[in-house]
Amino acid sequence: MSEAGTQGKDLGLLLCNVCHKVNSAHLSHCCRCGEAISERDYSSLHKSWALLLTAAILLIPANIYPITTLVNQGVVTQDTIFSGIKHLVDSDMLPIAIIVFTASILVPWLKIIGLAIYLTAISFHLPIPKRLLMGGFHIIEWIGRWSMLDLFVISLTVALVNMGQLLDAKPAPAATAFALVILLTQLAAKVLDTRLLWDRLELEHDAN
Ligand SMILES: [Zn+2]
Repeated sequence: MSEAGTQGKDLGLLLCNVCHKVNSAHLSHCCRCGEAISERDYSSLHKSWALLLTAAILLIPANIYPITTLVNQGVVTQDTIFSGIKHLVDSDMLPIAIIVFTASILVPWLKIIGLAIYLTAISFHLPIPKRLLMGGFHIIEWIGRWSMLDLFVISLTVALVNMGQLLDAKPAPAATAFALVILLTQLAAKVLDTRLLWDRLELEHDAN
């Protein structure tokens, strides 16, 4: 059982984060791609926190400002994420309302909460059960695959709007904030050195 917890660094081996070649620990740069290699990238934790907090703050303008501007025969209507979903429900487009809700509210929130759970666990060594940590990790991994859904929804909305005789549909200020939320949460997950999480999960004295 104890062998399962053996780490590369204990054997004098380090993984290159770029090309994933296993290098000898005395090398400072990867012998295949030349990238600097280190035992653990602790600064990645700070970068990830900074990106995540910025994303969380941007969720506020993304939700309170209009995300679309529609011009229909000279009449300008603006919709926030919420009023847009409400309009879809009112117009009997429930399946589309569910997709928009999932992509623009559920997915961003799950990403931010999942990332916050595992960054907190690594940074503060909080007694978070291992099962919950792995749960958070799987949420992030799973959601990463669905990140294109957000873009899909934006194009779907524009297509729908153009089909119903509206003359013009343009993204409004919240669209920029929303796009940044998606981008920053993706980056926050990407920059983190996940070995820091595995270290935390493999602590011998950790409860649960
Ligand atoms: Zn390499």
